[in-house]
Amino acid sequence: MQATTQLLYSIPVDAQTGAIAVPIYQTSTFVQEAPGVNKGYDYSRTNNPTRHELEKIIAKLEAGTVAAAFSSGLAAIDAVVKLLQSGDEIIAVDDIYGGAYRLFEKVYKKFGINTNYVDTTDLGAITRAITPKTKLIWIESPTNPTLKISDLHAIAEIAQRYHILLCVDNTFASPVLQQPLLAGADIVVHSATKYIGGHSDVIAGLVVTKDPALGAEIKFYQNACGAVLGPFDSFLLIRGLETLHLRINQHCSSASIIARYLQTHPLVDKVYYPGLSSHPNHHLAKRQLKNYGGIVSFSLKDDTEEAAKAFVTNTSLFHLAESLGGVKSLVSHPASMTHKSIDALKRKAAGVKDSLIRLSVGLEDGRDLINDIETALTLVSATHPQKLKHAAQKEKC
Ligand SMILES: *Cc1c(COP(=O)(O)O)cnc(C)c1O
Repeated sequence: MQATTQLLYSIPVDAQTGAIAVPIYQTSTFVQEAPGVNKGYDYSRTNNPTRHELEKIIAKLEAGTVAAAFSSGLAAIDAVVKLLQSGDEIIAVDDIYGGAYRLFEKVYKKFGINTNYVDTTDLGAITRAITPKTKLIWIESPTNPTLKISDLHAIAEIAQRYHILLCVDNTFASPVLQQPLLAGADIVVHSATKYIGGHSDVIAGLVVTKDPALGAEIKFYQNACGAVLGPFDSFLLIRGLETLHLRINQHCSSASIIARYLQTHPLVDKVYYPGLSSHPNHHLAKRQLKNYGGIVSFSLKDDTEEAAKAFVTNTSLFHLAESLGGVKSLVSHPASMTHKSIDALKRKAAGVKDSLIRLSVGLEDGRDLINDIETALTLVSATHPQKLKHAAQKEKC
C-alpha cells in the first residue's frame, strides 16, 4: 500500500530571489517605511516569513484554511484549549498523550475546565459523556502505545450534532496517512517533533483549522501568549516536510514487516499494529488510514519489567529513548518511561502491560532491524531462561 500526496507541489520556491530552499528570516523586527506601513511583517512573534511559509504548507497538507506553528506540540495543544471558557468541559480519548493529560489535569482544571476521559473507540461512550457544558472532543488515533483507532467520521458527526468542536491530534498518522479535517474534524494538532520534523532534531507543534474564523482565534492566542516557533526551527520543519511522504512510506513498510515477524516469534505474546488482522480496529484502520504507520508495540510471554528491560537494553539499532517518528529507530518501555506516572492498575487496564515494548521503526534497512530485534530477543531468553523454557522449546520444533 503506497500513500501519496501532492506534498512537494505545495512547497514553493522563494518568489523574491528564486532560492529553491525557503530562506531563514532570522530577524526579530522589520523596518517600516512610515508608522504602520510595512511589507506584511512587523515583528517576528506576530509573523515571520519562514514560519508563515511553513504555516501555508501545513494548512494545505491538512486541507485546512489557517495554520499556526508553535514552539512545541504541547504549546499547540495549549492554544486549542484556550478557545474554551472557565466552566466548559472536554471529552478526551482515555489513552491520551501523557503531556496533554498533565496539561488538562494540572493546569486547566484549576481554571475551571474539566475533562472526561472515555474509550473513544466506543461511540456510545462519547455520546453518554456529553453534557451541555461539553465544548471540545479530543481524539488521538492511532493512540499511544496500543494504537487504538477511533472512527473520525462518526465522531465528527456526533460533534456536529451537539455543536462541539472536534480536535484530532494527528501526530501518529501524519497528513500523509490521514487528513482529519476531511473526515469532518474542526482542528488538527501535531507534535511536529515527531514525523513532520522527522529527524529527531527539533521540538515543534502545529495547529490547523478548517474554519478561517476559528483559525484567527488560534492566531490570536499564538501572538498573545507568544509560544511561537523560531525561523530556524520553521526551516527544519519545511525541510522535513519535503521528504515526509517518502519517509512515511518506508516507516510503514518496515513496521509492517516487523509486526508480522514479531507475531510469529515464540517469545512474543501480543503484537499491536493496526495493519494486522488480529488488531481489534483493523477494519476501521483499513478504511480510515492510507497505511498503518511506523509504530509497533508488543508484549512478551514473560510479562515482566525485567524481561522488557533486557530487550530494550540489548538492541543496537533501536536506541532506547522517548519520542518517535525520526529517521533513527527508537525503542521504549512505556511502563517505566512514558506511562510511569500512571497508577499500575489503571495502566494495565489501558493495555500497557509490564513487558510492553514500543518500537518507532526508522529508516534503516528492514533486514538489519529484524536482525537487531532477533538478537535482543535471544538475549532476553538467555536472561530469563526458566519462564521461557517452554516457549524456547516450541521455537526449536
Ligand atoms: C509528543 C507528543 C505530543 C507533545 O509534543 P511535544 O512536541 O513533545 O510538546 C503531543 N501528542 C502526541 C501524540 C505526541 O506523541
